[in-house]
Amino acid sequence: MIAEPLSPPNSIEGLSPYELRVDQSRGVSESVVKTALETGDMGFLHSFTTGSTVDGPGVRVVGWTAGCQFRCVYCHNPDTWNMMNGMPVTLERAIDAIRKYRHSLKIMAGGFTLSGGEPLMQDRFAIRLFTAIKAAGIHTALDTNGFLGERLSDEELEEIDLVLLDIKTWDPERHRRLTGKDINPTLDFACRLAGLNRPVWVRFVLVPGLTDDDANVTAIAKFAGALGNVQRVDVLPFHQMGRFKWKKLGLDYQLNDVELPSRDRVERACAQFQAEGLIAY
Ligand code: SF4
Repeated sequence: MIAEPLSPPNSIEGLSPYELRVDQSRGVSESVVKTALETGDMGFLHSFTTGSTVDGPGVRVVGWTAGCQFRCVYCHNPDTWNMMNGMPVTLERAIDAIRKYRHSLKIMAGGFTLSGGEPLMQDRFAIRLFTAIKAAGIHTALDTNGFLGERLSDEELEEIDLVLLDIKTWDPERHRRLTGKDINPTLDFACRLAGLNRPVWVRFVLVPGLTDDDANVTAIAKFAGALGNVQRVDVLPFHQMGRFKWKKLGLDYQLNDVELPSRDRVERACAQFQAEGLIAY
């Protein structure tokens, strides 16, 4: 399939992460990207959105980073896979864009979440941004697949008030098939966060026929329950809102015929987590 030509948008403020955004770094040289990744002076962002109630506690501003090393077959933001689809944003501009919401975020018991894509692809930018935002008195959360968790030191992890850790599936072979990567780095990061007693919410996408079998859910629930630092589990029902992006990008979407999970199945998955002593929604 040939993708239709797409134009980059102009504003970093987005209405939702479901906006298709590509080629926002057109013309940025390789050396500029390399320096940005080494120093964190600049990040590559799909967009900023406001008013999220599903990406951590309270109402949140979310920064959607570009660049991800996973290729989840159910990804709803494949335009964030390529870092060059992100808009180059200086650290100062990013800090200002978030800090202006400081008072309203406090009133709404919310904060700032860095999501993606995979934010730790830009670990220096991420940690410098978190450090500045936390110093401004804003709650910080990192939404990550955990694969690059070792890039952050124990001290740096203290700048992050909450880690939203995405566990995709349990079986290593299935994990590789669904994401293209090994599961062990994610589980190692989970154990390290537990050892440091850092707060974690586990996020798990329930995909009919791919991740929703009882054995898979129970295995993840038992692992999460044993960690001791998991404050909550979000069971996220698969949806088709990202399907149009795959089509527009000319990617082979294999989940056209997958239906949304039933309410009963979502509730049963929550019960499986609750059976391990966890709070699950
Ligand atoms: S980790 Fe997230 S952004 Fe990356 S491919 Fe998977 S669902 Fe998409």
